[in-house]
Amino acid sequence: MADQLTLDIAKDWLARFGTAVQEHKAHLTELDSAIGDADHGSNMARGMTAVNDAVAGSAPAALDEMFKSVGMTLVSSVGGASGPLYGTFFLRFGVAAGETDSIDAAGLLATLQAGLGGITDRGKAEAGDKTMVDAMAPALDAFAASLADGGGLADAARAAATAAAEGRDATAPLVARKGRASYLGERSVGHVDPGAASTAMLFEALAASVT
Ligand code: ADP
Ligand code: MG
Repeated sequence: MADQLTLDIAKDWLARFGTAVQEHKAHLTELDSAIGDADHGSNMARGMTAVNDAVAGSAPAALDEMFKSVGMTLVSSVGGASGPLYGTFFLRFGVAAGETDSIDAAGLLATLQAGLGGITDRGKAEAGDKTMVDAMAPALDAFAASLADGGGLADAARAAATAAAEGRDATAPLVARKGRASYLGERSVGHVDPGAASTAMLFEALAASVT
């Protein structure tokens, strides 16, 4: 069980997230076809393939270098809203991690919070707007609560993954207020938000990587 997010674990996290979005590409696209433009699966699969190719072809010495490259790759390879949003998440994550090859659980919480701050600065979504924020914000709250209870990195990441999945499911009854789905207004009710679904995969991948 890891007590630090190292460069190798970070690479494993990105690889697992990439595999998950590839495996569930059709599902993510199906969710986006209900309330968007049916491209979230292909956007995320393309973006994470580019990310994992870039990571495999480089030997970053520090987490900031690695995650800044991840963020820039997503911004440049994904056309949809999710590219700049996940891209900003990883850019801010990298800046917060700093020039180090590992961070502990408290450090990871701070970097994840910086990443979420990037998403809300850029997209202006608030809790309940039916976006990826509705999976990520409860995930980070659960991560923090687990650490406050004396949990280690693996416990906190597992709690975050569970909360992200619950947050994803809780987007179904919401009316979308941001992004393309907001054009549908009340007709967005009854569908899970695609970005919340991919964010749940991001946290499931993290939990698997640090277990
Ligand atoms: P696009 O909407 O441009 O086609 P995607 O389909 O790849 O891009 O991503 C859609 C997802 O992006 C949504 O399901 C939602 O979670 C997220 N999203 C869109 N706009 C915002 C925003 N302003 N803030 C946070 N997340 C957003
Ligand atoms: Mg879309």
